[in-house]
Amino acid sequence: MFNEIYELIKQYDNIIIARHIGVDPDAMAASFGLKNSILLTFPKKSVKIAGTGSNRFGYFGKYDKPEAVREHTLLIVVDTPDTRRIDGIEELTKYEKIVKMDHHPFIEKFADVEYIDDQASSAAQIVLEFLNETPMLMDNMIASQLFWGIISDTNRFMYSNSITKAMHLTADLIKKYDLDVTKLYASLYARPLQEVRLEGYIAQNLVLTENHVAYIKITDKVLQEYHVDAASPGNMIGNFNYIDEILVWIFVTEDVKNNNIRVSIRSRGPVINTTAEKYNGGGHKFASGAKLKTLDEADPLINDLDAVCKKYLKEQGVENNED
Ligand code: AMP
Repeated sequence: MFNEIYELIKQYDNIIIARHIGVDPDAMAASFGLKNSILLTFPKKSVKIAGTGSNRFGYFGKYDKPEAVREHTLLIVVDTPDTRRIDGIEELTKYEKIVKMDHHPFIEKFADVEYIDDQASSAAQIVLEFLNETPMLMDNMIASQLFWGIISDTNRFMYSNSITKAMHLTADLIKKYDLDVTKLYASLYARPLQEVRLEGYIAQNLVLTENHVAYIKITDKVLQEYHVDAASPGNMIGNFNYIDEILVWIFVTEDVKNNNIRVSIRSRGPVINTTAEKYNGGGHKFASGAKLKTLDEADPLINDLDAVCKKYLKEQGVENNED
């Protein structure tokens, strides 16, 4: 299938790359890595990335200005399983051909060519495999961008999704392009002190249920007190892994700018995406999200996840003393 995608890229002079709303480093990596490789391999093509930019991930490069879709345009959607979550693309019918490259569990077919590997560690890994297995070119900048995506989505190889494959591919990438990993880690992980202070607030105020769900509702007022935005809690959710008392943790954040409530959920055991799907959300087995209208709407979601944890603990043969 990679050859089919390569042939489409070769064939089209106008290419738009799209990724999911609520951008994260992996979605940035897959879109920027792919764009820069297409331009390196075929310098005359027009390649733009759709969607809203993010100051936080400015180290990936500058965003393109959205422009009207030209005739005969190829759309490549990365890291996004369904049309509902594609950022910055109004009408799919305007594109002559559509390609999907994704590592989420399958939700919906919307592209002519769909490459889905839900065992891949990240969308960046899929792009890397695509570049490795076709005549597409790569350089140090593209390798660095893909490195950021893989490192971020695997949380430095913490999860078991094809970990050996991801490690081998990354080791080869570091060696071949002589990557300065210390410098690259600094770009990816450096953060403002106010976010660390917010992390302290979250740690102090997490509510723990008897079935080991920890949750917090973060109002706009709190975000303002800490001088952070609604994306900040989601950026640090990975830091709450491996806490004895917590199996599933949920950050519910008021997003006044977008007039909705962002929910980020993580798990170190129970499967959470099927529950998230019931609340206008979805994602991976152990990393999911949802969008709600009010803070109160989070209560049934929290209760459902509590029930999921209860069942999980029972299946694991763990007696809950508080039961
Ligand atoms: P986040 O907590 O925003 O980092 O998201 C974790 C995972 O859940 C990512 O794979 C997202 O693509 C997915 N996700 C987040 N929000 C939603 C949503 N509203 N609907 C479906 N999937 C989501």
